[in-house]
Amino acid sequence: MKGFDALERALGESGRPVVCCFPLYPPLELFHAMGFNPIVLWGLKPFLASTSACDKHVQTFACSVGRHLTEFLLSGDVAGVDSVFFYNACDTLRNLPEILSRNMIGAGRQAKFYHFHVPMQGLGAGVGRDYFKGEVGRLASSLEKDCHVAFSNRNFQDSVEKYRKMRGLHAVLQERVARGQLGFGRYARAVHEGHLVPVEAAIDTLQSLAREPPSNPRREGLHRVMLSGIMPPPPELSDAIERAGLVVAANDIASMHRSFRHTPRFNGDVGDYYVDFYSRHCPCPTLLFTADQRAGYLADMAKDNGVEGVIFVGEKFCEYEYLEFPHIEKIFKQNGIHVLSLEVSIDDRDNVAPLEGRIEAFAELLGSEGP
Ligand code: SF4
Repeated sequence: MKGFDALERALGESGRPVVCCFPLYPPLELFHAMGFNPIVLWGLKPFLASTSACDKHVQTFACSVGRHLTEFLLSGDVAGVDSVFFYNACDTLRNLPEILSRNMIGAGRQAKFYHFHVPMQGLGAGVGRDYFKGEVGRLASSLEKDCHVAFSNRNFQDSVEKYRKMRGLHAVLQERVARGQLGFGRYARAVHEGHLVPVEAAIDTLQSLAREPPSNPRREGLHRVMLSGIMPPPPELSDAIERAGLVVAANDIASMHRSFRHTPRFNGDVGDYYVDFYSRHCPCPTLLFTADQRAGYLADMAKDNGVEGVIFVGEKFCEYEYLEFPHIEKIFKQNGIHVLSLEVSIDDRDNVAPLEGRIEAFAELLGSEGP
């Protein structure tokens, strides 16, 4: 998919109003059940020639995820995108809705903003849990009122099953990547296109990919690595990882595996569903109540997948990841796992050669110790 016209076509084909969800982990099933086509605004760089509209309002030392989604919404090049959902995922995203609403409305666009608040002290105890269930109920009521559609358990269950299917396909494809049968770069592209199209279209794409014969039968001498970070590396670096003889055996990318690991069972209470969704979510530094689980979770993932090295793809100016990583890095090194830290910024796609060189050197280091 290239350019806004292709994106616009994909969005128009769903026949549903589009709600643009800020990353990281929005309640997609709820929007789908209420008749929306929810998309998640990850990885918009390929659609944007610059961030000139954003740069008038947002500091240049914000992460590229926040700057690109701001540009996407302010530049207004995609028709029919007038609803936005956000929650308190991180400080960068928390500060954008006022900027966006003021400037979108100022440009004559009637954008609706929906949100809820996820209590970061956790959802297990009575107060946090009850408060959050109230937040989910409030969001569902706002959607009912604005869309003139009553919430239905049956529709919600159908939507849950669609997202469960999509997340299950991701698990299958990541397993193929781990076996060296599917290129990580190809898989990452399919994931990111899937964030921007209706779930039904994403399922079709993933099913086609899953039906393809293995494109790259396993070779001897591949070194197994884990990728960790908010976003996958740019395509050029994903290709460099594969060229260097590294296979992505474990995936801790927020826009990929962290987004897809867990789909709860629906017991008839949408509030309970989202309490389960967030409280048992794949650990992520943006969900503060899961932060204590991160080190153990990553160490287990590395061990279970026979990982020899970890490549940390740092999103420049994302303090959530950067504050945590020194601690995680120490634990990996204590376990004999090598670590490569890369920093990717908004301009780095144009200047990847130094990063490619570091990936090659890292592969040589792993190779010098044998598979
Ligand atoms: S990259 Fe980090 S700072 Fe940026 S939106 Fe994601 S979590 Fe927030």
